[in-house]
Amino acid sequence: MTEAYIGLGSNQGNRHQNLQHAIRALDERVQVLDRSAIYRTKAWGLEDQPDFFNQVLQVQTEMTPEGLLEVTQEIEHKLGRRREIRWGPRTIDLDILMYGELIQHGESLRIPHAGIPDRNFVLTGMMDLAPNLRHPVLGKTIRELYLQCLDTLDVLLIES
Ligand code: ATP
Ligand code: CA
Ligand code: CA
Repeated sequence: MTEAYIGLGSNQGNRHQNLQHAIRALDERVQVLDRSAIYRTKAWGLEDQPDFFNQVLQVQTEMTPEGLLEVTQEIEHKLGRRREIRWGPRTIDLDILMYGELIQHGESLRIPHAGIPDRNFVLTGMMDLAPNLRHPVLGKTIRELYLQCLDTLDVLLIES
């Protein structure tokens, strides 16, 4: 069994419902142990689009990281994610943030997710779940990364 963290984001359609549906679908495939609060954040990267609702889940699974990626992509597709503009609007985005202590630098799968140290909304969600968790590449805890993060986009708590 491996403990993993999955980042959820939605900025199209009913964002709150999209998060709920994604959690329900994930819960059929992995064990969802805990969830962060839901946060609202201005779009990161490509700014001219609706705000995102973001949340982070702590899960437990026997699936391989590749298997987990397949499941998350299948759920994205099922929930109507179609347009494939990087950082563009989407009904749901599921990113594998961490997978145990695993370090993997693949083309189609990079773990830990490259965006963790640069994204306040990811670190804020992870702070709810595992502030003492250590990033296996950077050697720093989530709390340290959160305090050092230079991302100035506001992360508003909308539901705890
Ligand atoms: P970002 O990855 O910077 O948050 P994004 O979520 O908009 O951007 P996507 O279009 O959802 O990017 O994904 C592009 C590709 O990233 C996917 O096809 C997937 O193969 C790859 N990828 C690499 N590492 C991961 C990971 N840890 N979790 C999810 N996808 C990943
Ligand atoms: Ca993403
Ligand atoms: Ca993604």
